[in-house]
Amino acid sequence: ASWEKQVRHSATPRRPNGFSVLVTGAAGFVGSHCSLALKKRGDGVLGLDNFNSYYDPSLKRDRQGLLAKHQIFIVEGDLNDAALLRKIFDVVPFTHVLHLAAQAGVRYAMQNPQSYVRSNIAGFVNLLEVCKSANPQPAIVWASSSSVYGLNRENPFSESHRTDQPASLYAATKKAGEEIAHTYNHIYGLSLTGLRFFTVYGPWGRPDMAYFFFTKDILQGKKIDIYQTQDEKEVARDFTYIDDVVKGCVGALDTAGKSTGSGGKKKGPAPLRVYNLGNTSPVPVGKLVSILEGLLNTKAKKHVIKMPSNGDVPYTHANVTLAHKDFGYKPTTDLSTGLRKFVKWYVSYYGIHSRVKKESEVNSEHPKGS
Ligand code: NAD
Repeated sequence: ASWEKQVRHSATPRRPNGFSVLVTGAAGFVGSHCSLALKKRGDGVLGLDNFNSYYDPSLKRDRQGLLAKHQIFIVEGDLNDAALLRKIFDVVPFTHVLHLAAQAGVRYAMQNPQSYVRSNIAGFVNLLEVCKSANPQPAIVWASSSSVYGLNRENPFSESHRTDQPASLYAATKKAGEEIAHTYNHIYGLSLTGLRFFTVYGPWGRPDMAYFFFTKDILQGKKIDIYQTQDEKEVARDFTYIDDVVKGCVGALDTAGKSTGSGGKKKGPAPLRVYNLGNTSPVPVGKLVSILEGLLNTKAKKHVIKMPSNGDVPYTHANVTLAHKDFGYKPTTDLSTGLRKFVKWYVSYYGIHSRVKKESEVNSEHPKGS
């Protein structure tokens, strides 16, 4: 009964017509930020996460602690546990599901391919099976990835571009997720909105991502590898700041709820939509490193090498016209601003004091209005 009470309390909205949202992957990077944003505007939020050890689980526990302070409860369990999911849906009539739980990372797929199939394909299907028979049927917004564009060379990437050359098993499972979503929309009328995230970064980020371990390695004086394409071009990414991605997720949830689910009257068939959520301005990885060197007040030991064919793609670049048109998505944080916020979080979280410039010193280099 106390478990039920916690679940119900966490998922109950505090604003009129507020949503009840199940956030999967709530102890993760994007999931924890989205959970807080939804809770702050008065929606009910229940988390689900298996706290796996793909990266330091203590970071996930600390995010959980942060969410608990805001009355957000995370159920500890796996997407593949159908009985658990049904039990949760028996207690709460969710209006929305924000599905962010996945096995992320492109390189780890070479060591552990099965974990991608288990979480990103089997786990997604299991969740959709429970959603399809839930009453009401929740509107689902889920994380796809820019990696579905794979080795495609058309630039910038639009949603209509080809996605038939995934360069990693991770990308293939994200692409499979999109196909599976189409099927559940077609057969069962589930409302499904896929968001193709482009290299999301920021405070509470993922330690397996380049900007994060570059920061760590630069501070520790370790050598860092900077990838070059086979034809010696710089690898570039459309780095997207977490707050922009959160706004995109919330916007997609609001739009998804309008046409179906218990949030309002049904207005025609449930939608299946896919959107890019990027920053629209790719930055070469070398530039990322020089911004970090400035913020950390430390020279990096750079080692430029040819990009191994281990799942990475040479560049990503989002066209976000569609997300802007449908829910006003507009990224507003440039890489220097976003990295400054990341570094500020990083040094305070890990208790690093030496060398790194204080906020005031950094600001005085860029006086307001310049
Ligand atoms: P993350 O690893 O920090 O978060 C995912 C969370 O899901 C983790 O806390 C993990 O413990 C949990 N999880 C994994 N498998 C699970 C399972 N089977 N059952 C229950 N919980 C499980 O990753 P993130 O960066 O926050 O990514 C969120 C989503 O966005 C993922 O779907 C990811 O593929 C996608 N994505 C992220 C990026 C990015 O740059 N961060 C880019 C493209 C797509």
